Parts: sequence; structure tokens; C-alpha cells
Amino acid sequence: MVLREVRTRFVARETEDVSLRDCQGRVLAEDIASDRDYPPFHRSAVDGFAVRAADVPGRIRVIGEVRAGDTFRGAAGAGEAVEIMTGAPVPSGADAVVMVEHVTRHDDGTVSTDRDSEEGGNIVPRGSQARAGAVLLPRGKRIDYTAVNWLAATGHARIRIFTRPVVAVIATGDELVEVDAMPDTDQIRNSNAWSLAAQITRAGGIPLVLPIARDLQAETRALIERGLAEADLLLLSGGVSAGKFDVVEPALAELGAQFFFDRVKIQPGQPLVFGRVRDRFFFGLPGNPGSTMVTFELFARAAIDLISGATEAPLPMMLARLTEPFRHKPGLTRFLPAHVDCGEVTPIGWRGSGDVPALCRANAFMVANSDVPEYAAGETIPVMLK
Ligand code: AMP
Ligand code: MG
Repeated sequence: MVLREVRTRFVARETEDVSLRDCQGRVLAEDIASDRDYPPFHRSAVDGFAVRAADVPGRIRVIGEVRAGDTFRGAAGAGEAVEIMTGAPVPSGADAVVMVEHVTRHDDGTVSTDRDSEEGGNIVPRGSQARAGAVLLPRGKRIDYTAVNWLAATGHARIRIFTRPVVAVIATGDELVEVDAMPDTDQIRNSNAWSLAAQITRAGGIPLVLPIARDLQAETRALIERGLAEADLLLLSGGVSAGKFDVVEPALAELGAQFFFDRVKIQPGQPLVFGRVRDRFFFGLPGNPGSTMVTFELFARAAIDLISGATEAPLPMMLARLTEPFRHKPGLTRFLPAHVDCGEVTPIGWRGSGDVPALCRANAFMVANSDVPEYAAGETIPVMLK
């Protein structure tokens, strides 16, 4: 629903120009076309001897050499070889390259090999990776280091990208004090606003942390209005459960919000709310820190991706083998702290969605299927990287 609703109402963002140095993680606002064929010539993939495939195995006369950055003047005829370095253009006449490791040099200026070779062997043909004009990095692609390499290879020193969306964070709760204040015995610090700010930054947004909202409808509404004025997306933490002082939904309703859902069958994070108010999307994230952090990764991050102009909003999930048996109460899909290494996953014991120290020890969330109460050691289970 998040993907559908945000895609349906997508409005293209403003753009800006940046250099290659500053584009990591940003979203392309233009199609990037190849400036020429890649490789631009028939390129040798190895150090060796350019030959006619029909001449090997056999003994061949070496008529010259060609290094990367140079072109051999002349052609390789029948029975002739040109010594060639990786990345150099294959001389005309030659149709295969024999690796230097498979060749014996002789004093009379010949080389021999007992290896067979086929036409095109160890040659990357011109244009086989990309044709001139082909768009391999489309508008909407999030730039990673491989994309940076391709941008540089194709001569794009400056590129047009979308501006980052501003994401407002409103923590709600009478029990909260700001991080730099000393909590009374019955109070806790507003830690969610800061984990959310970190998650927003990592997702490519600009966090705007607003003051704590007391559990009062009018105060919460006023802060929501401020968020609507200053941000592209709104995240609220806490106040979405069934408690007497959970005023987030009523405050949003008062502003005419549309609610797409207000409950998900997962744990942590069951009371998650997603909707739209005025022309902004919002998430009401449950306040237990584990719930806030997990629901952000599962739902809000996708919205930030799409609002950022990215066409894809992938979830980094994979399968891993359990190192030990595991059981949970069925009925809800559970996201449990775990440690993943080399395809193996070990659950980390935790004491519920408030157990931040356990989350700090984890590098992933193990995803326990709502219909599967028991897993044996060695069974595979999905994990979401942290
Ligand atoms: P709520 O979803 O408002 O019922 O909050 C559930 C629990 O999460 C609260 O009782 C707090 O212990 C905790 N909590 C709520 N908001 C925050 C926050 N901003 N930072 C840290 N913990 C919070
Ligand atoms: Mg609360």
C-alpha cells in the first residue's frame, strides 16, 4: 500500500547539479547515456598473444607488440602473433588472444602453445557492454559506487540529481524529556527522534527534528501543522496504540487525514499508522524504540525512496541458515534481532521491543513467519540486514 499510494501521487522533485564527489547515494534526475561504444574497440581481456584462432595450437612468429593505450599499426597475418597487454586493442587480422601463461617463448622470435583457442577467445568485442547512446543509468536510479564508476567512465563530471526530501520527526509522549535534560525517575529521554534522524539521513532524506509533543491533542496537532509546513513527509513516534492518551490519530483526523491502514500483522510494530494529510504522507510509528526502528525500515524508508525520486525501494532481505533451533508464537510476522555472518544467522535474545541494547548487538532482523512456530537448526529463514 505504501508503494502504491506514494507512486500514485508522485510529484517530481526539484533538481540540483553536483560533482561526482558528492553524488553517492543520491538519485539521478537525468538519463545517463553512453558517450561511445564500450569497450570502444575489441579489447584484450588478458596479457598474451593476439593470434588467429586457426593457428593454435602451434608455433607462431611474433611480429610486434601492443600495450594498453596504443594501437598496433599493421595486421596479424596467418602464422603471426602480436604480443598484447590487457586493455589494448586487438590488432586487425587477429581473432583470439592466447594467455601469456599458456605460451612458450623461443629464441628465434616465435612462440608456441599447445592450447586450443576459439574465435573471440579472451577478446571483449567493441560495444558488447554498452552501445553508444544506450541509457544504462536511468533517471530515478540511486547512485552507488558502481554507478559512480560508470558515470566517470562515460565522462559525466557533473550530474543532475533530485534534491533530498525533508522528513519531519515528532516524538510524542508525556514521559519524554530531550536528550540533554536530566530525566526524573518516571521519565525517559527522547531517543526515538535521534534514531529516526539517523535512519532518515541514511535513507537519503534531511531530518527535521521538531520538539516533543505532549499527549495533548491540540499540542500534537500544532506540531503536525508545523511539520506539514516545513517537510515533505511526516514521521510521528508513539501515541498510536489503544491507550487513553494516544492522541496522534485523533489529532490527524482533526486535520482531515486519510488513513490507509492503522495496524499491521507484525511484531514489533503492530499499531503502525500510514496516511495522508493535506498533500503530505505521514507515518505514526509505535513508540517502543524497537517498533519505531523496525517499522521505519520496513515502511517509511520505502516512502522516502520514492519521494526522493527513486524508482525502486528495495528491502535488503536474504536467506540465511539458522545456527540453532528457534521457536516463536505464531500469528504475527516477527522481526527479531539476530547476527548474520557468511549466510548463517544466530538469534540474539531480547526482552521485547524496548530492548535497545539487544538491537545494538544485532546486525540484522530475522523474519519469523507468522505461520511457522518452530524452526530447526540448519533451516533457512529470511533476514533483513540492519
Ligand atoms: P507509545 O507507543 O506512545 O505507547 O509508547 C510506548 C513506549 O515506548 C513508551 O512507554 C516509552 O517507554 C517508549 N517511547 C515512546 N516514545 C519514545 C521516544 N521518543 N523515545 C524513547 N522511547 C519512547
Ligand atoms: Mg505515548
